[in-house]
Amino acid sequence: MGGIAGFGVFFAVLACAQAPPTKAREAMVREQIEARGVKEERVLDVLRRTPRHEFVPPELQVHAYEDRPLAIGYGATISQPYIVGLMTELLEPRPDSIVLEIGTGSGYQAAVLAPLVRHLYSIEVVPELAQRAAKVLARLQYKNVTVRAGDGYQGWPEHAPFDRIILTAAPPELPASLVQQLKTGGRIVAPIGGQDQELLVFEKLADGSLRRRSVIPVMFVPMVPGRN
Ligand code: SAH
Repeated sequence: MGGIAGFGVFFAVLACAQAPPTKAREAMVREQIEARGVKEERVLDVLRRTPRHEFVPPELQVHAYEDRPLAIGYGATISQPYIVGLMTELLEPRPDSIVLEIGTGSGYQAAVLAPLVRHLYSIEVVPELAQRAAKVLARLQYKNVTVRAGDGYQGWPEHAPFDRIILTAAPPELPASLVQQLKTGGRIVAPIGGQDQELLVFEKLADGSLRRRSVIPVMFVPMVPGRN
């Protein structure tokens, strides 16, 4: 019997990071995300199981599954669920991917990516947000996410090169340091621009050049020069 109890604990720990689907999350995925063309089943499944309400301030939790971004303080927003789903699909995460995220914010995008990759490194320029996101991710038992406060323009050279890089704040143009820290064959998904931003997908080809594809117009908070 002790063995069976042991198994119970083991599975409980493994399953902790993701919650069962709920009616609100099922509806969010069906009506906002699948309906707009996101198809990758692994991505949809993670979105059904990620407790988005845990990543927003208590007074906004009732709005957590609505079709819009929400302000989370310090000028940051948790992106609209559709945009998180779309960017996750475009990134083409693999179980063995080492991923860099710029703009941890609430930690929600990190939580959506974590089950789909080997490890996620995430950088947030506002120390208070970095700390808060790291705390939520730890409480929800995400083991393969590392968050630090710092300037995303520098990337994270100690853990480079990355298979995938996702930006959730918009720089005026793609920072060269991030391109340097991307593996050949890797991809970057990023909103780029000032007043008018586009969601772009970049692939690093064998000769080191970048292939670039524009997906849709978007509106993200600007990527600000770091404090350190
Ligand atoms: N991925 C987040 C969305 C956060 S909004 C989520 O799922 O909630 C964008 C975030 O980028 C903000 O928190 C903002 O503080 C951060 N940011 C802006 N400029 C940055 C920079 N230079 N380096 C790192 N983070 C930056």
